[in-house]
Amino acid sequence: MADSKSEIAADARSLKELDAGIVRCRGCRLWERATQAVCGEGGARATVMLVGEQPGDQEDLTGKPFVGPAGKVLDEALEKAGVDRKDVYVTNAVKHFSWEPRGKRRMHKTPAQQEVAACLDWLLGEIRLITPRLIVCLGGTAVRALLGPKVKVLANRGKFFDSEWGPKILVTVHPSSILRVPPEDRAQAFESLVKDLARIRDL
Ligand code: SF4
Repeated sequence: MADSKSEIAADARSLKELDAGIVRCRGCRLWERATQAVCGEGGARATVMLVGEQPGDQEDLTGKPFVGPAGKVLDEALEKAGVDRKDVYVTNAVKHFSWEPRGKRRMHKTPAQQEVAACLDWLLGEIRLITPRLIVCLGGTAVRALLGPKVKVLANRGKFFDSEWGPKILVTVHPSSILRVPPEDRAQAFESLVKDLARIRDL
């Protein structure tokens, strides 16, 4: 009977089994301050897997990935890029919300490399079970997890990489970055994200 994180992730026979392991995981300290783990969501036969960074405040509260403001940007960008959400499985490199208090608010804190490395077993478990044809890394944390620290997002966005995991990997920015650019530049930043995501259809 598998009992370590890596064994459970490697041996799970379904997403349900994998998710049960994620929910119980204590592989790093992020679970201590999170409300719950946020597992991936989408069809088990999805051809495209989108990998973000980590759950945000609303994802942590609802237990669902990409339901906050960044998720709204992602939905709009996918629709404009002509990508059907039915073909897509959405997940994060890190499954618990990393945050720090600022007054009464919980502010996003970029997960440490050690936390990303600890959570990689789960992401690899998802890749093994779903066998997508393409993985889209949304932002630097996902890129670091799957392609390593030498691949920079802005220099490589819109490009395909081979991966040791099987599927091709496409690099683009995290949708939350669109919300951080000055309002006058936002439309252009959004169009650049749409252009990158439209490359999904090249496959
Ligand atoms: S962030 Fe990942 S490795 Fe850390 S406790 Fe949560 S599921 Fe486990």
